[in-house]
Amino acid sequence: MSWFARMSGVNEPLVARMREFGTTVFAEMTALAVRTGSINLGQGFPDTDGPEGMLERAVEAIRAGVNQYPPGPGVPELRQAVCEHRKEHYGLLYDPDGEVLVTVGATEALAASVLALCEPGDEVVVFEPYYDSYAAAIALAGAVRRPVTLRPDGGRFTFDPGELRAAVGPRTRAVMVNSPHNPTGTVFTREELSAIAAVCQERDLVAISDEVYEHLVYDGVEHVPLASLPGMRERTIMISSVGKTFSVTGWKTGWLCAPAELVSAVQRVKQYLTFTSGGPWQLAAAYALRHELGWVEGLRAALAGKRDRLIAGLDAAGFTTFRPAGTYFVQADIRPLGLTDGMELTRRLPELIGVVAVPTQVFYDRPEQGRRFIRFAFCKRDEIIDEAVGRLAGLRREIG
Ligand code: PMP
Ligand code: GLN
Repeated sequence: MSWFARMSGVNEPLVARMREFGTTVFAEMTALAVRTGSINLGQGFPDTDGPEGMLERAVEAIRAGVNQYPPGPGVPELRQAVCEHRKEHYGLLYDPDGEVLVTVGATEALAASVLALCEPGDEVVVFEPYYDSYAAAIALAGAVRRPVTLRPDGGRFTFDPGELRAAVGPRTRAVMVNSPHNPTGTVFTREELSAIAAVCQERDLVAISDEVYEHLVYDGVEHVPLASLPGMRERTIMISSVGKTFSVTGWKTGWLCAPAELVSAVQRVKQYLTFTSGGPWQLAAAYALRHELGWVEGLRAALAGKRDRLIAGLDAAGFTTFRPAGTYFVQADIRPLGLTDGMELTRRLPELIGVVAVPTQVFYDRPEQGRRFIRFAFCKRDEIIDEAVGRLAGLRREIG
């Protein structure tokens, strides 16, 4: 019997609504990579640093004594820089005082939004495969997820608008949208976003729009913020991440933009989760938004090349790949290799060829929909991708 069971008479200390969630697949796969000395194309984090000037600003801020609680909504410099960026890039106007909230990464923005909006028993529509924290945030709120499946169609993943409509019921409160989409790499077209917007307006839903890969789009594809569609600014919470845009995933700094009423509701929750978000990172992020978007252009160009390098290797190894229009992930269908279960393959991949990937099925309510896919991250140095490609070339032989 555990000490906890002896002390409390309760066997499982974890609340029932969180029991379906184990360790995140990202932590599990990174641990597997470390344990086996494999190349880690599982968890999505870059293996090179963000822009030097931005890193320097964080160091300077710490040395200058920016080390006490920043204001709850975020430091004014960052809120101002966020609004300038929204205006310049998307023509979206937000008020830095009341319509922006700085958060501990996009993860907190997502969780605080769901916790602020959903009563127990309310429903939230999610597109599966979904980023893993969506399901946990919905469960924490005591809400219920209603999945709409993204399926391959013409080399990319998309949804059936009829299925979306059917997923909405009388208790639906919100829809969580993620474009560019992790893990499929789909960037929703204006037409797809319009279908979502129509449902949100007809059924009076709030859109929680996760746009952390807003700058990581390729081949001239445009990222369209959901809030920029007619009638959507007033009902959309738009979420960004410094970690993804500037390659500092460990900084855990992000923000959301929304009408004041929604921001105020989310902030009410956020202030009791973390109160505020780290000060030095916020000042560095403000600097980066104003001075380092050129660096992001370079990152985007480099990532497009890495994507092509990895896809060529995966195709040569025998997978069917889906060329992502955005994010730094690629989906690979394992069936041409004579395999059917991505979970089994990702568990064996380290011992077979010393490479780690993520089984896409963990991002579904209906895992059978994603059993045949595995996800590879390509936000790694070219030599690492080339080494992985070399190892993948031997996969067919190893499978036997
Ligand atoms: N949403 C998506 C789709 C992601 O891939 C990630 C991972 N970066 C997050 C949210 C979380 O972002 P952050 O690290 O800023 O919390
Ligand atoms: N967003 C990253 C991914 O999808 C990892 C985030 C995490 O480790 N929680 O791989």
